[in-house]
Amino acid sequence: MERSSARGGRAVLTLLFFIGVTSWHVLAQDGPGIAVHVVQRGENLYRISLQYGLTVDQIADANGIANPDAISVGQRLLIPSPGSAEEPILAIIHIVQPGETLETIAALYEVNLDTLGAANRITGTAEVYVGQTLIVPGTEIVSAAPSDVVEPSSTGAEEVSAADASEVRDPTSTIVHIVQRGESLFEISKKYGVSVNDLTQANQLADPSLIYPGQELLIPGVSPPQYAGALPQPIERLTIMPLVFVEGRSARVDFTTSEAVSVTGQFLDHPLHAISQNNGRLHSMLIAVPLGTVGGIYPMTLTVAGSSGAGTPFDINVQVNPGGYRQESLTLAADQLGLIDAAVDAAEMAILRQVMSGFSAERTFGTLLGLPAAAPLSSPFGNHRTYNGGIYENTHTGTDFAAPAGAPIFAPASGRVVLADTLNVRGVATILDHGWGVYTGYWHQTERYVSLGDFVEEGQMIGTVGSTGRATGAHLHWELWIDGVPVDPMQWVSEPLGY
Ligand SMILES: [Zn+2]
Repeated sequence: MERSSARGGRAVLTLLFFIGVTSWHVLAQDGPGIAVHVVQRGENLYRISLQYGLTVDQIADANGIANPDAISVGQRLLIPSPGSAEEPILAIIHIVQPGETLETIAALYEVNLDTLGAANRITGTAEVYVGQTLIVPGTEIVSAAPSDVVEPSSTGAEEVSAADASEVRDPTSTIVHIVQRGESLFEISKKYGVSVNDLTQANQLADPSLIYPGQELLIPGVSPPQYAGALPQPIERLTIMPLVFVEGRSARVDFTTSEAVSVTGQFLDHPLHAISQNNGRLHSMLIAVPLGTVGGIYPMTLTVAGSSGAGTPFDINVQVNPGGYRQESLTLAADQLGLIDAAVDAAEMAILRQVMSGFSAERTFGTLLGLPAAAPLSSPFGNHRTYNGGIYENTHTGTDFAAPAGAPIFAPASGRVVLADTLNVRGVATILDHGWGVYTGYWHQTERYVSLGDFVEEGQMIGTVGSTGRATGAHLHWELWIDGVPVDPMQWVSEPLGY
C-alpha cells in the first residue's frame, strides 16, 4: 500500500508538471525510409541534431563529417533513424480543466470547434472529460525540437481533484521532470538551476549519461509555485513555465479569465507587462530574472481589474534558483586597455537600457528563436569575467559564437531595427525589437547590412562577424533583453517561450 500511495503522489505531481510546464508538447512524426535534411541559412549541426532528436555525432557519423563546424547551406545530410525528412508535426496539447467544455477550449485557442473535435476523434461535446489531453490543431508553431509525447500516467479521479494547482500547497512537494528526447542530465540541471550531482543522487542514477525519454526524474530542492489561496475570480486557469525560475533566465505566465480584464503585475520590484488577447480573456507575461538575483522564494504579484472595478492584488510564490555561472579570465591587448573604463561602460549601458526598455504589443518572434550564427559557442551567458589579472571585472550579459571575421549574422526572429550604431565597447552594433518587450543585440560586427527603422525577416542576413570594439578576437556576441533586463538568449533557442 505504501508503494501505491507513493506512486499516486508522484502521478499527481507529474500531472501538475504537465499543466504548469508543458501544457503543450511537440509531436514528431517518424517516417519510413531514408531522411534527408537540406541545410538552411542560420543552421548548424547542433540545431539540426536538436530538430531530429539526435546528437551532433550521430549526424556527423552518418554523413562522414570530420569537422561538425564545416557544413554549408544547401548541403544534404542523411538523417539516421528515427529522424524524418518531413518537418516535425507540431501541436499544442491541452489538458482539460474543471469547468471547461470543447467550446471554451476552442475559444481559448481560437480554433474551429469542428476541427478541434475531429483532431481528437470526438463526435459529441459530452465526450470531453477533466484530465483528458486534447490536441489543438492548426496552431502556428514553426519550428521546435521534437520530443516524445508523454501521456500523464492516468486520468483517475484522485489526480483530477489534485490537478488544480491552487490546491497543491504542500511546501515539501517537489517537481518531477519527464525526460525529453535528446535531453541530457546537464541540460535538465541547467533548466532548474540544480547540479548534475544532486540530480544523480536524488534519482539514484548509476550512470548519469544513461537517461531515457519518458523517464521521470525528481528535481531535488525545488518546489512548485505556491498560490497563497484559491485563484481569485475571474481567473480560470493559470500556467507558469518553467515552474522554477533561474537567475539570468526567462519565464512566462499565461492565464485565462472568464471576462475581459486588464492585468498588471510585479516581480522582483520590476513591473510586468501583460499582453491580453482573445477579447481580453487570454493574458501572457514574459518575465526576466536578473543576474545577481539571490536564490529564494519571491512573490509574483498580479492584479486583475474587471468590470466590477479595481481588482485585489494576489501573490504567487515562485522559487528562484541561482544560475551557477562561472568565472572567466580574459586578456585585452594594450591598445584596448583604454576601453576598460567604468565611465565608458556606464554610458554605453545607459544607451542599451534606454533602447531595450520599451514595449510594443505586436510580437514578431516565433515559438523558438533561430541561432544568429552557424558556429559553436565560445563563451556562455552569465560568466563573471576578470580582465588582465583583475584590474577590471564585469558579467557577460550575452552568448559568444566563435564565428570567423566575415561570417554571416542572421536574424533569429523577425523584428524592427531600433539601434544601428558604432559603440566604444560593443563596436558595430545592431539591436532588433521583436515586440512584447523582447530585444536582441549583435555586437562587434565588421559590416552591418541594416539601418535604423528597417524591418528584418527571420533568417535575414543582417551583418557580418568581426572584432570591432572591446573584443579579444573575431566573434559574435549575442544578447537578449526583456523589459530592460538581459537574460540568457540560448534558453530561447531550446525552450518554446514564444509559443
Ligand atoms: Zn560576449
